[in-house]
Amino acid sequence: MSSVRIGLGYDIHRLVSGRPLMLGAIEIPFDWGLLGHSDGDAVAHALCDAQLGAVGLGDIGAQFPNSDPKWKGAAGADLLTRTRALLADRGARLVQADVTIVAEVPKLAPHRDSMIDRLMQLTGADTIGVKARTNEGLGPIGQEEAIAVYAVVLLDVDPANTGSRPGPGRD
Ligand code: MG
Repeated sequence: MSSVRIGLGYDIHRLVSGRPLMLGAIEIPFDWGLLGHSDGDAVAHALCDAQLGAVGLGDIGAQFPNSDPKWKGAAGADLLTRTRALLADRGARLVQADVTIVAEVPKLAPHRDSMIDRLMQLTGADTIGVKARTNEGLGPIGQEEAIAVYAVVLLDVDPANTGSRPGPGRD
């Protein structure tokens, strides 16, 4: 018998020069990018955290620790694909996600549709919402020093239906 789970994820990364800006597994043309051990994709990270939390698998740091050189430069797309496989092992599937990006710069509205398309492809979700807003000039986000992301997810869990989703699996 299937049941539903909800999860909440949050991430923030510092904006620095000399890095590509990866958000939602797409590259957004901009002079600055997000600093991180991985590619800094705060949308992917918040979405992974929300999904992992919803099925009791901790968080991205537990599954893909940044102390392991294996995850250096890890792409958000890769982490989302691996998270999808971890969920499938438990009979869980992402039904819906809603994402809010808090960024003073750059303007993200022109990239919203391609971000949603890419996230739906990677996660297999039925519905994904992406909203972007500024922080009204307040604090480090308002001063263009960082980008933060909130994500909530709804998962369907059917323990009798495991391993049916594509993905690289755990290793
Ligand atoms: Mg992160």
